[in-house]
Formats: sequence, structure tokens, C-alpha cells
Amino acid sequence: MYSLMIHGGAGAIHEKQDYKDSIEGILAHGAKLLESGESALTAVEACVSMLEDDPLYNAGKGSVLNADGKVEMDAAIMNGAHLEAGAIAGVTNIKNPIQLARKVMEESKHVFLIGEGANQFAKSTEAKIQDDEYFIIPKRVEQLEKARKNSSMTLDHDAPEGNTNEKFGTVGAVARDLDGNLAAATSTGGLVNKKFGRVGDSPIVGSGVYADNETCAVSATGFGEHFLRTALAKEISSIIAYQKVAAPEAAQLGIDYLVRKVEGLGGVIVIDADGNCGDAISTPDMIRGSVREGSDPQFR
Ligand code: ASP
Repeated sequence: MYSLMIHGGAGAIHEKQDYKDSIEGILAHGAKLLESGESALTAVEACVSMLEDDPLYNAGKGSVLNADGKVEMDAAIMNGAHLEAGAIAGVTNIKNPIQLARKVMEESKHVFLIGEGANQFAKSTEAKIQDDEYFIIPKRVEQLEKARKNSSMTLDHDAPEGNTNEKFGTVGAVARDLDGNLAAATSTGGLVNKKFGRVGDSPIVGSGVYADNETCAVSATGFGEHFLRTALAKEISSIIAYQKVAAPEAAQLGIDYLVRKVEGLGGVIVIDADGNCGDAISTPDMIRGSVREGSDPQFR
């Protein structure tokens, strides 16, 4: 039996219906891949690529802008079969960062490449490159201007710093394929007006992404620093390993831990080794959807 979940960020989402068609379409595409016997890894890469191509989300095209008015992206992918992982951070002009993360996993001897080095590696692969205009959309320019005016580093879209209704637009996917393999992928533009080469949780194995066939696949969204300090994705995997609970309970226990330890803000999607789907949030909402073999895609 296959299962697939995707997310488009957590927060207070005002125009949620805007996301419905996008999420359902991507789930239907991912389900088709899994149904035809494609791997969980290929399904999560394909879904996250589609989310990156959609300017609705803070990943790929439409990513938030850093303090220099540039798009700098982070992404990671993990294969639960052998704990293989690939990650990149601070890359520019890469159309699909998640595809580059997979190339790091499969075509380099490394797990994590950053900045100029990652962009140099991209040149040695067939990664698609786009110019700055492709990534920068008008609403992100306005958002950066606002953040600069307030001298703040906002978390996403419209929300001022310190507002608990912030929206985190990172994207992610988790899947279980017909062979029982699990995979997870997360991709982001990070924070608006970010400086100093700031990297959040999204490309960090064990924080914003994790997959182990013996336990679960996890993708996170939220205030990256909170997920980094709690190593939350691995924490959820350990909860399943030691407490033998299913994905819905593990997701909730993970978010409880995030809130208890660091008053963390965000959400997770989780699929366990049996294909159960779970999610939990400490924000008012999260854009997400799931599909399981034999049922239609569900947007929530
Ligand atoms: N977790 C991401 C970061 O901190 C933000 C998000 O989820 O939108 O970079």
C-alpha cells in the first residue's frame, strides 16, 4: 500500500482555498507515480519540484528575498531505505533545489553542500538554472521592503516579526511506496530579510527532514531555529522507534515536545512504516494534503 503527504507551510493561512487546486493536483500526480511502482524517493522529489515551480510557496520560484534582495534556497532529501541523504543550502539560480539535493545524494560522495560550492557542483550536473527574474515575484519585493522598514527579519509573507500568526511557506513531502520504502523531502527560501548566511532547519537531516524505513518519514515547516534546537524530525523517528506509536500520535508527541522544550512554532507531516499518515501543528494552521492507495487526494 502506498501513502503520500505534502505540505505548503504552517501559520495563520487567510486565503486557504487558493492552495486547494495546487495541493490536490500535486497529490494526484504523486499518487499516479506511486501507483505505477515509482519509488517514494521519486515521488517526493516530483511533488516538491512541483511545489517549487508554483509561486504560491516559499521555495524555488516565489522564494522570499534575503537582506540583499536575492533568493537563497535550502533543500534536503532522504531515502529511508539506507539512510542516504542529500542537502544543499544558500544556493542561487537553481530552478529545483530538491533535484540538486538528490544529485548531491546520488552523484557526489557527500551529504551537504553549501553556497558557491553547491552552485559549482550544480554546473557539473544537468541542474536547470534560471536567472534572478524567474525567482523574484512582486509580492516578495514588497515583503522585503516592509521588513527593511521595520528592520526585522520576518518569517514569511505578510506577518510582522513577533506575530504568532506568521506564515511559514516552506514545502515538503513524505511518502511510502509499494515496496514499503519511505522518503522525505523539504525545500525553502528561508526567512525574509535573512542575513549572515542564515540557514534554517529545512536542509538539516534530523531537524527539517528525516526518513528511516524502520520508523517513519518526516518533513517540517516552521521557525527553523526551534526545529534545529530540538532535532525534531529525528525526535519523531525516535518516538516511533521506542514508543511503538503510529504516525498521528508520533506527530502530536513531537509537536508537544517542540512546544514544551522551546515554545516552538510550526508543523510536521509524518508517514510511518505501515503507511499511516499523521500531522500536527503548534501554529493556527498548515497547508497540507494526503492521499492513500484506494482513496482520493484530501486537502486540509
Ligand atoms: N523552516 C523554514 C526555515 O526556518 C521556514 C518555513 O518553514 O517556512 O527556514
